[in-house]
Amino acid sequence: TIEAVTADKNSRYPQQRLILVMNDITTLKQLERMRKEFVANVSHELKTPITSIKGFVETLLDGAIDDRENAFRFLTIVQNQTTRLGNIIDDLLTLSRLEQNDEESGISMEKIPLCHPVNEAISICQGRADEKSIDIHVECDRELEILGNGHLIEQAVVNLVDNAVKYCPEGSVVLVRCEREEDRRILLVVQDNGPGIPEADQERIFERFYRVEKARSRDMGGTGLGLAIVKHIMLLHGGTVALESSRGEGASFLLRFPALPS
Ligand code: ADP
Repeated sequence: TIEAVTADKNSRYPQQRLILVMNDITTLKQLERMRKEFVANVSHELKTPITSIKGFVETLLDGAIDDRENAFRFLTIVQNQTTRLGNIIDDLLTLSRLEQNDEESGISMEKIPLCHPVNEAISICQGRADEKSIDIHVECDRELEILGNGHLIEQAVVNLVDNAVKYCPEGSVVLVRCEREEDRRILLVVQDNGPGIPEADQERIFERFYRVEKARSRDMGGTGLGLAIVKHIMLLHGGTVALESSRGEGASFLLRFPALPS
């Protein structure tokens, strides 16, 4: 803001003065841009399945309902799109609960063996892995303990293993490995030999709704929110999430938890 102030000629200070007030609004502008982008993304992501549901219901009402085979096919699409809407809303609610991060959010932390939520997560993903004959190989010592929320860690591991299973070829192996690092932090790695993630996309991959190949990823049933949730869960645990990958050479997601005080 630049403001010119001319003092009264009769005053004791007849000279002209110039007041220069400068506010850095870069952060505010960035936040506003991110908010607008987020609202636009949410609207778009919700609109896609709604448009599809509306279209198929109209076709059914226009007469397709009398053709049993087509009616069944269209209703299955309506059912899938409804599930998709539910998943997006569940993920959005999870994210908002994670961001709230106060006592009301009901997120409690306790000392737990990391293998507990890891094993729970693997059993949740097992069915989908079996469908693609994928072997999930787990190496996680009972002695590795963290301060954390079991349900949230389980969700983070489910999101990563689910992605690995989703994107890697049939018959491959997904490796889930935990270890104590030299600085005593606990490292959990989910590694696959799928298509990997191009370097250009790696910086933005943890943003909400960011996908490498939008259409393909959406067709695979994802919400585009899985990695954003993983990132927030790790932030809540005072930890980090990193990605090591190059195109065609698989992806490794690395979760690091702070060391427990000895
Ligand atoms: P989605 O629900 O679409 O899987 P995520 O936030 O979990 O959303 O992942 C964001 C995008 O990152 C995915 O759409 C996909 O393009 C890419 N991605 C995530 N995990 C992997 C992986 N293991 N291998 C290849 N690409 C992946």
